[in-house]
Order: sequence, then C-alpha cells, then structure tokens
Amino acid sequence: MAPICGTSHNARCWLCTDSCGLFCAGLTITLIMFSQWTVSKQIITTIHAWPWLHLVVFNLVGALALFSHLRAMLSDPGAVPKNAEPLPCDSQRLREAKAQGASHRKRTKGWCHRCGAYKPPRAHHCNVTGRCVVKLDHYCPWTNNAIGVRNHKFFLLFIWYTFVFCVYALAILVHTGYTSIKTEEGGPETFGISVLVVGMCGVLFGLFTSCMLCDQWSVLSTNVAKIDRLKGEELAVSSEVNEVFGGRTRGFHMHWLLPLNVQYPKSVHDDVMGFRVPEATKAELLVHESVEETKNADGASHDIENPAENDGNGSLDDIKRNEETFSVLQDEAATSLINRSR
Ligand SMILES: [Zn+2]
Repeated sequence: MAPICGTSHNARCWLCTDSCGLFCAGLTITLIMFSQWTVSKQIITTIHAWPWLHLVVFNLVGALALFSHLRAMLSDPGAVPKNAEPLPCDSQRLREAKAQGASHRKRTKGWCHRCGAYKPPRAHHCNVTGRCVVKLDHYCPWTNNAIGVRNHKFFLLFIWYTFVFCVYALAILVHTGYTSIKTEEGGPETFGISVLVVGMCGVLFGLFTSCMLCDQWSVLSTNVAKIDRLKGEELAVSSEVNEVFGGRTRGFHMHWLLPLNVQYPKSVHDDVMGFRVPEATKAELLVHESVEETKNADGASHDIENPAENDGNGSLDDIKRNEETFSVLQDEAATSLINRSR
C-alpha cells in the first residue's frame, strides 16, 4: 500500500519525515506566528499613525512568508520519477560513450543505484530525501526539504518575505521605543520579555536571510545550481526563461512575487527537467482513467479492467465483449494522446 506522506516514488503527498528537519520546520512556523501575534498585539496597537494599515501590511507579509514556507516544504522539489527516460540527445551521448569504450563508471553516470532510477545530467542525489532531484541546490532543515528545480522559487520567496518581515518588525520596534522615550509614555509592560525575544529573532534571522539572498543571487542570474558550479559543471540549458521562477520570458513578472507553481514553456520544459516520461506510461494512465470513468458510469463493468479476472459466472460472450471494450478504450486513449501532442 502506498504511504500517505513521504518522499518515496509511490508516496501520495510529498513530506520529508526527517525528525530533525520536522523540528526545525515546526520551530520556524512557530517563531513567525509568535512574532506576528506579539508585534500586532503589543506594539502596532500603540502606534498613533495608521495602526490598521500597519496591522494589515505586517500580517500580509507574515502570511506570505508562512505560505511560501509551507509550499517549499510540501512541494516535490523535482524528484526524478522511477519511469524517467533520457532525452534523445542524452541517449546519444551515452551510446557514444559506450562505443568509445569509456569506463563502466562513466557510461553508467546516467543511472542512480541508490534510488534505482535514471539520473539526468543536472540531477544530484539527496541523502535526506533519498531521491535524485533535478537542479538540487541544497537540503534546507528550516523547510525540511531538498531545494530543487520545482521549489526553489518557494524557498527564495520564503527567505525574501522573512527578511522583509524581520526588517518591518524591527523598524516598528525601534520607532515605538524611540517615541515612548521621547514622550515618556509606555513602560516595561510595552517592552516585555516577548517583545525582547521578537527583537532578538528579528536581528538574527534578518541577518541570516540577507546573507542567504546574496548567496542565491548567482543562481538566479545564471540558471546554474550551486552544486553544479562547485563541481565545475556549469550546464545552463535555457537562456530564454529564468529557471527558478519560470514564465515565458527571462524578465521580471509580477507572478514571481506569489508562491504559485513554476511553469515552463513546452519548448524548454524537457530540457530544463533533463528527462522525459515514456509515452506508453501516459497511455496506460489514460486507459486507467477511462476505465475508472466507465466504472463510475456503469456499476456493472467491474470486470472490464482485467477480463482475465472474471468471476466465472459470466459467459464467454461477456468476456469477449469486455475484451473488445478494453481494446476500444486503449485506441481512444492513444488517439487522445496523439491529439494532445499536436
Ligand atoms: Zn538517486
């Protein structure tokens, strides 16, 4: 039975179950929510100018940081599926290496023995998730996930909104402290221990996220992952899109600021991912979906999916008719696939 959560090939929902990572991710979420509550309740309500505007904007930034964090944690980072196949150009490369008598290790570079799947040129094996991830940047304990081609955007948005959140919280704290000293209003009850904790976290995480943003700039501007650069394998495959944020052009778009799915144009999708899923698998999936729909529409079709598993009560004519139906469904699925590819 397929596990509900995990990082295996057949898990239904992506979630790394590393205990240390789960603790760090839980701590991150708790700290952001605690800071939101403390600053909103104890500081912003004492501001005289535009308190409601500050309340809305501050909590909006906090919510975007939280949502980006959840998406970075719960998204498949670009793990290579079990049935992945090399792109035609890479198949040719492997054949040529074999023909030239390259070493066994070099020829089998396109296969990962640890996760038992094809390993595309820009994929690296992540020991924590146990999967090969396309454009693996690093494993992040704060989001408890590998950061790869499909969740790098969410990770960057998380550290960007956390940085803005920290700066905003510190600015409000400093302004309120300065005003209270100047007017001799407020007192120890305004700046209690919880506000002190928020201030310290703001300084610590503000510095940490600003360093991370500077460190990530090269990945954004060159389309080359950090591990590839360290290994000297600078394999940027597309110049027309930004591989971290997706979209149709390389320039900035407003959707970059929102934690929405990363999408690439069809022309570069396979090149960015570095593998393809065999057409037969897609056809099988379509057949399966068609059979499921038929089952729902007609409760008596329980023996269509696999005519060999007939319970023996039906006649030979029934079995033959079901086999014909199965064949028609396969033809329809194949036709549908061809039409889609056009
Ligand atoms: Zn692997």
